[in-house]
Amino acid sequence: MAVKSIALVAHDNKKPELVEWAAENRTRLAPLKLFATGTTGKLLAEGLGRDDVVRLLSGPLGGDQQIGAKIAEGEIDLLIFFWDPLEPQPHDPDIKALLRIAALWNIPVACNRATAEFILTSAYMTDDRHKPQKPDFSAHYDRPVGG
Ligand code: PGA
Repeated sequence: MAVKSIALVAHDNKKPELVEWAAENRTRLAPLKLFATGTTGKLLAEGLGRDDVVRLLSGPLGGDQQIGAKIAEGEIDLLIFFWDPLEPQPHDPDIKALLRIAALWNIPVACNRATAEFILTSAYMTDDRHKPQKPDFSAHYDRPVGG
């Protein structure tokens, strides 16, 4: 299977939608390792009846950054992030950082339910021959620095 682990995050107003979507897709999610920010993870564990959801810190307490670190370390294949376009968040810089890291490491990201549906039903989800290209940043370490 190409996708083995998913990180899920939802802002408060979007949590019911994420949990509903996850429950609808319970079977598709069953073989996948799930990571989530603290509160999202708690609701997902309850909604899916799963005790194996890896719960990180709550987003405003550093959970988004923990997910970003896991993406950079290659632990997460897909990010489902239902962020709230109508509500300012205290951890806005962390949200931006998470989306940046996902773009940097070429991780598929769904920021709404429609995109999540497209991704989760994609043949690439289960096609081992499809590996999203991992960027090669080796030249970054050899760049000229300083005066
Ligand atoms: P939470 O964090 O799942 O702990 O609510 C999500 C967020 O607001 O980033």
